[in-house]
Amino acid sequence: MPDVSNGTKFDVIVIGGGHNGLTNAAYLAKAGKKVLVLERRHVLGGAACTEEVFPGFKFSVCSYVVSLLRPEIIRDLDLPRHGLEILPLDGTFTPMPNGDHLWRVNDHGKTHREIARHSRVDAEAYDEFGKAMQAMCRFVKPILSMIPPDPATLNPRELMKLLFIGRRFQGMSSGDKYNQVQLMTMSAIDFLDQWFETDVLKATMSASGIIGTFLGVRSPGTAYVLLHHYMGEIDGAFRAWGFARGGTGAISNAIADAAREAGAEIRTEAPIAKIIVKNDVKNGRATGVVLANGDEIYADVVSSSVDPRLTFTKMIEPGHLPDEFMDGVKRYKFRGSSGKVNMALDGLPNFKCMPGVGAHLRGAMSISPSVEYMEKAYDDAKYGHWSSRPYIDMVIPTLTDTSLAPPGKHILSCFVQYAPYKLATGLNWDTEKENFGDNVVNTIAQYAPNIKDIILHRQVVTPLDLEREWGLTEGNIFQGELSLEQLFFLRPVAGWAQFRSPIKNLYMCGSATHPGGGIMGAPGRLAALEILKDGKAA
Ligand SMILES: Cc1cc2nc3c(=O)[nH]c(=O)nc-3n(C[C@H](O)[C@H](O)[C@H](O)COP(=O)(O)OP(=O)(O)OC[C@H]3O[C@@H](n4cnc5c(N)ncnc54)[C@H](O)[C@@H]3O)c2cc1C
Repeated sequence: MPDVSNGTKFDVIVIGGGHNGLTNAAYLAKAGKKVLVLERRHVLGGAACTEEVFPGFKFSVCSYVVSLLRPEIIRDLDLPRHGLEILPLDGTFTPMPNGDHLWRVNDHGKTHREIARHSRVDAEAYDEFGKAMQAMCRFVKPILSMIPPDPATLNPRELMKLLFIGRRFQGMSSGDKYNQVQLMTMSAIDFLDQWFETDVLKATMSASGIIGTFLGVRSPGTAYVLLHHYMGEIDGAFRAWGFARGGTGAISNAIADAAREAGAEIRTEAPIAKIIVKNDVKNGRATGVVLANGDEIYADVVSSSVDPRLTFTKMIEPGHLPDEFMDGVKRYKFRGSSGKVNMALDGLPNFKCMPGVGAHLRGAMSISPSVEYMEKAYDDAKYGHWSSRPYIDMVIPTLTDTSLAPPGKHILSCFVQYAPYKLATGLNWDTEKENFGDNVVNTIAQYAPNIKDIILHRQVVTPLDLEREWGLTEGNIFQGELSLEQLFFLRPVAGWAQFRSPIKNLYMCGSATHPGGGIMGAPGRLAALEILKDGKAA
């Protein structure tokens, strides 16, 4: 196979130009390393990308709102200078079938009055709940920026990390301690039931607990996912979500710019077929990659931002990895459960329960009218069907960022659950795709009947599309479920959560590593710090 490096050897090759691969590259390049990023697609960003799907209409095709991006990354890479601008997304509007609605906004007084309209008790409890969640977020926040400990070793450094977490836990009030344990073990609904009585409030809040998981709002473990989505912060405020001007691809492009400025080289349409492993040490040593066209490129370190199934079963020849590790890789769960329907609109949806154009269209619009509705949506998925009555999270970014569509036109982004990757026998996503899209439109039409008249174009993204086009195995939006048994020192494989792999000089830096999925950048940054640490030690 031809060596196309022309004698150039890179310090690090990063597999994948999603936002984590780019973050990894930017930190390494800033530290003086010669870095090459190789991205399979024609566009950078992975699941955080903006594409002009229809002429004049630019979509955040996959991820659509931002909150979790670590503030230290924004600072270290000076992302605003590279074009990052986050615009606020205010509130969540939940239309109800009986003609009523629930509309929570960032204005405390307004939200209090709105919830009190449904239940005075809940309006009071909402404040208390907010404070409790803030306390939980403060406890978890430093964990997002730490290399997970390995509790199985007696290494003093690892024990110190455990002690650090233990001390922080001890520092919480007893109420917060109980809440924390409950959050780690309960279902979203059981947890919310302890605070609230209003069905629609619980339903719409529980939605954050199921995003990207193949679990229902009543499944244990979903309370933690709820916290994961609370943890985002914008300008220091937890729970704040926003749009990136230019779509989520603008985030990836800003990181890519920072990486290039620091000297990194980034190539698109450069799919990697294999990682080259030399057998001079136990389990081997990564020395470069082979592209799909057969070209070989060499580096001291290979840092993979794709998931462990792709990295270790597709890109590594069998025989290099210990059985125990491979068992862990095989056990790692994906179970994609989400889809997207993106629409180009000629106008704005007109909700029966709040007619006309108003601020309610500027935030998230959530089809999550009752707890039973949410759980029934999961019932369909359990048996291999997309939900006949799905949970839909909608946003209209063009009301905040007019650059995404021609004047007077809009884009509507619909995140949908459930769309199970594995369909029942006899069904397949290629034939179900447009039926799924029709069902989403019909569901929205029950609340905003004009929707069908204003659709100019529609793009349906199924979990199979996410796998084929974005390389997300089984269509899981987080490169692997964010379930408790796959988090922290267990992500992606117990004993291998510190971004290294059994193959020397082969690292992992994507969402399949701690602290997991979402536009966060944390895995990419933490992996870079570990690569640099090992480089210093050598
Ligand atoms: C539908 C959807 C909606 C979402 N909504 C949100 C949201 O609103 N907010 C949020 O915070 N998060 C959201 N997420 C999650 C978030 O987008 C992802 O967790 C995150 O973008 C993953 O980043 P990453 O860099 O770790 O991996 P990826 O984005 O998966 O990047 C991996 C990259 O590797 C490339 N690649 C794959 N194979 C190869 C190969 N052989 N050679 C070279 N390159 C390769 C891929 O093309 C891809 O660009 C959503 C995800 C999806 C799919």
